[in-house]
Amino acid sequence: MNNRGWLGMKRPRAPLVYVLGIYVFIQFSWWAFMLVDLNAEIHQLRLEQLIAFAPFSPELHIQKADLDEKLTMRIWMVLGEGAVFVFILILGFWSVQKSIAKELALAEQQKNFLLSITHELKSPLAAIKLFLQTLQTRKLPEEKKEQLYAKALLDTDRLEKLIENLLLVNKVESGGFPITKTEVDVSSFVLEMAHHTYQKQIESGRMELEIHPGIVANLDQMALQSIVINLADNAIKYGAEGKIKILLDKSFDDFVLSVSDEGVGIVKEEKEKIFERFYREGNEDVRKTKGTGIGLYLVKLFVEKQGGTISVEDNIPRGSKFIVRLPTVSS
Ligand code: ADP
Repeated sequence: MNNRGWLGMKRPRAPLVYVLGIYVFIQFSWWAFMLVDLNAEIHQLRLEQLIAFAPFSPELHIQKADLDEKLTMRIWMVLGEGAVFVFILILGFWSVQKSIAKELALAEQQKNFLLSITHELKSPLAAIKLFLQTLQTRKLPEEKKEQLYAKALLDTDRLEKLIENLLLVNKVESGGFPITKTEVDVSSFVLEMAHHTYQKQIESGRMELEIHPGIVANLDQMALQSIVINLADNAIKYGAEGKIKILLDKSFDDFVLSVSDEGVGIVKEEKEKIFERFYREGNEDVRKTKGTGIGLYLVKLFVEKQGGTISVEDNIPRGSKFIVRLPTVSS
């Protein structure tokens, strides 16, 4: 992590909180010491008074023991109250520290998001502009023209998907995307969509489909499409040219949709974090892959809003496997 926060501003650091904590602790220890000392002084004075007024009283030793007991009780009271106070103080600082760490992580994610979104919007636009300028200014053979059109369309696709995801996150979070469930033949839906969107990968043998027929569920079609596309796009992006498998099967009252790849995989500590909004593994300054960190967040939102779960595990022999579980229509 570098030292700069949101929009490059210097991030707040926590040492002031620690200095304040240490100061309060020392201050309190000092007061505790003074209290014990004062009590000991009062005890001594009372003892001297007792001896001065009735040096030969037969009850002297009883009164002395009484004073000793009071002193011990007060010392214990100061120490007990002190221990409770220190405990509360530690608890308070621990929670302050936790929220500061959370704020810092969020600031880092926002910085990463801003950097990536700027890049993600700018680079396809720049490429499309260049293709169009080339087409406008030069006389090109038909074959070359076709190539440029195809590239421009690919970049337009990328932009469209990105903007779609951004709008969806915004809509879902503000409640403007009501989940509209209808009875869907999930098997046919996923099969058709995969063939339509990933024709190239299927034909080249990179993507394999294992879709068990007859799985029906009450789902929002648009949300289901976003789930499949985001997971499959990630498998292509992070899959290091290895094989990708989309599996759809029934499991008791649920159906399971898994998307596995043979890429770099995801380390244990990152497995929870990747579903957070704007979270991307590593640092934006050094990252090679394109993205904004909202795809998996959106997938998780959609899965959970429809009563399902999503998890990620290591794929065998390598890569990762994302597993979505959603309820089916019981037959
Ligand atoms: P994006 O791909 O735009 O960064 P996502 O929310 O889709 O955002 O993914 C978040 C992060 O999770 C990615 O930056 C990447 O580090 C990690 N990730 C997602 N899918 C995979 C995968 N199939 N293999 C390895 N890492 C992945």
